[in-house]
Amino acid sequence: MNHCNHCGNNLSSIIPAGDDRERYVCDECGHIHYQNPRIIVCTLPIYEDKVLLCKRAIEPRYGLWTLPGGFMENGESTHAGALRETREEACANVELLDLYSLYNVPHINQVHLFFRANLLDLNFSSGAESLDVKLYSENEIPWNKLAFTPVMETLKHYFHDRNQNTFPMHCAEILIDPNTKQTITRHF
Ligand SMILES: [Zn+2]
Repeated sequence: MNHCNHCGNNLSSIIPAGDDRERYVCDECGHIHYQNPRIIVCTLPIYEDKVLLCKRAIEPRYGLWTLPGGFMENGESTHAGALRETREEACANVELLDLYSLYNVPHINQVHLFFRANLLDLNFSSGAESLDVKLYSENEIPWNKLAFTPVMETLKHYFHDRNQNTFPMHCAEILIDPNTKQTITRHF
């Protein structure tokens, strides 16, 4: 961020009075540009014993498989956003069930939410951001070709919980180990 979105002048990274961390503040008009985490809303669409995955047609993780989801828009609810993203990416009609998992991803300033959902019919197809959309049973899941850790974790929880026939909500934080650079999932 280089220029003020109010007046176009230069920004400086300073701690504003009464604040405790650096913000981008306009040198000219003093406008403070707060930056906060973004929310990614997703569904876990279920049809009989299968789940619906999308093959990504965009970066990051082009060509890898993910659950339908994307950035929540201003002016919509998490539920509406998850339904919209599922329609956009998989052209799929789903009915939302419970909020099922929540992943904090602080190193990229994101929060990912996944709703369990019933896939209502088989009239799904690839949206503009997908190369392919497909139903997978547990033993067909392309575990080494999944795009994101929260997607992998949510699928693992789902197949485990399905065996118990109980679906408690899962909350976790995805961290990067500073030494190994490997992903660590810490459950709350
Ligand atoms: Zn300004």
